[in-house]
Amino acid sequence: MDETDEILQTGPTHSKYLNERSSMVSLDDVEDLDQKRHPGHRDQVRRRSEMVSSKKVCVVGAGVSGLACARELLREGHDVTVMEQSGGVGGQWLYDPRADGGDPLGAAGAHSSMYASVRLISPRELTGFSDFPFFPRDDGTGDSRRYPGHAEFLRYIRDFCDAFGLMDVVRLNTKVLRVGLAAPRAADDGDGIKRWTVSWSRHRGCDGEVVTTEEEVFDAVVVAVGQYTQPRLPTIRGMDKWSRRQLHSHSYRVPDSFHGEVVVIVGFRHSGVDIALELSKLAREVHVSVKSMEALTPAVSKAVARHSDLHLHLQIECLREDGQVTFADGSRVAADSIIYCTGYDCSFPFLDTGGLVTVDDSRVGPLYEHTFPPALAPSLSFVGLPRMVLVPRFYEAQARWVAQALSGWRPLPPSEEMARSAEEYHRAREAAGVPRRLSHALFFDMDYCDEFGAKHCGFPPVEGWKRDLLSLSLASASDGAVESYRDSYHDSDLVREGLRSEGWWPWLPDPQ
Ligand SMILES: Cc1cc2nc3c(=O)[nH]c(=O)nc-3n(C[C@H](O)[C@H](O)[C@H](O)COP(=O)(O)OP(=O)(O)OC[C@H]3O[C@@H](n4cnc5c(N)ncnc54)[C@H](O)[C@@H]3O)c2cc1C
Repeated sequence: MDETDEILQTGPTHSKYLNERSSMVSLDDVEDLDQKRHPGHRDQVRRRSEMVSSKKVCVVGAGVSGLACARELLREGHDVTVMEQSGGVGGQWLYDPRADGGDPLGAAGAHSSMYASVRLISPRELTGFSDFPFFPRDDGTGDSRRYPGHAEFLRYIRDFCDAFGLMDVVRLNTKVLRVGLAAPRAADDGDGIKRWTVSWSRHRGCDGEVVTTEEEVFDAVVVAVGQYTQPRLPTIRGMDKWSRRQLHSHSYRVPDSFHGEVVVIVGFRHSGVDIALELSKLAREVHVSVKSMEALTPAVSKAVARHSDLHLHLQIECLREDGQVTFADGSRVAADSIIYCTGYDCSFPFLDTGGLVTVDDSRVGPLYEHTFPPALAPSLSFVGLPRMVLVPRFYEAQARWVAQALSGWRPLPPSEEMARSAEEYHRAREAAGVPRRLSHALFFDMDYCDEFGAKHCGFPPVEGWKRDLLSLSLASASDGAVESYRDSYHDSDLVREGLRSEGWWPWLPDPQ
């Protein structure tokens, strides 16, 4: 039995896995592991590499979706460059204390919207790449909880980069300024092949002075810039005149400056709940404004009932210059601060498709299966738009599909067929009452996700015990205790068996 057999059969101890990973910079080693899990895959890749063509590909963004792309594109034999505007990889998970750059309602400052206290809402066993488990460290460093804080996930992303040698293809402090169709080369006239001119600026350190501005032509561009940076704000009468503090949750980091204040939180989903509960410990009063009382989950209603210092109201009707906030239910408070936890809009300011791809209320389209714009595929693609999926696993499947479509191994349907499919998809969702802004939300529909992977790129389905864990964790997040569902959970026998067989013991504490 060799080392890899042992890891697969007994489940790795973490240090052994880390050692394995530190020497796993070569793709051969990674493929060894892959071969054990998916027999035949390596031969398939070899056979394929003799048949397919390699492209010069630019990936915009080095968050989890951009890094998933980098790995899959490299595996498929493409020539990859990842451009990342920040000074490090990780995207949202690269916590940035600077917050807002002086623009608390806008996105002038940091890319990341992480606040200091963020913990994952998804268990770590589900929040990893398909073949690279998000194990806690077994040397006592780090955050071994099932739902760890953001720093632990960033550590994992960095380990992933090291294991697959991705930093060789990432250019940091490199902001993409424009992506537009390149003029066809004389030799390509008439072949219909689309190429892209990418221009970018290189900075000296994060937000430092621009060192150079350059451009280069690529065969393909993958847009992987995330969707949690551009604040979505409500329109409220008097908002422009309100003289006290207003900010979007994008710019919220720590609670200290709200000490003793009367704070109004607008919106009560993940960030709204987290921030309201955090502030209730030190603010004088916390008022929460929601669109409708009926939309609250049982867990949130119970949390409000338990915290007498949290006050629920309907939507804000108007704001007065002197700080008074009037709610639709007629109640009023004199507030010191308002925090809008109202979500985010998609935006691609650098992308010029001549109108072939548009963004309408967070629907990016038209896109075939949330990934390819029919008129520009496969040379332009989007990875990371689907929400309410297992991250980064779903993005990994998208990335593999993009890599295989570009190499020619998985030809796409004709553009008219892709356009028709995209249209039908949205029509069906609208008929089912899904709002446009949730066009790319997949509501953890694991059947769809498995079908997506199987149909487009031979991606393995999610294991049964993980499906079970997902159902249990979604149920406890919506029905359990908001403050404690991350620390108190009950695993089914199937989950326990899965954890045992895949080497998750002994790191995770015994379920209670
Ligand atoms: C507060 C908060 C909590 C969250 N909690 C969870 C959770 O518990 N579980 C979960 O699964 N998901 C969670 N998410 C969602 C999270 O964003 C995704 O899991 C994931 O980070 C998305 O990765 P991404 O690579 O698509 O985008 P991002 O992480 O946003 O990365 C995009 C990258 O593109 C770069 N970029 C953007 N524009 C340019 C440009 N012009 N040029 C060069 N580079 C550019 C950015 O700097 C960034 O590095 C949370 C999000 C937030 C905001």
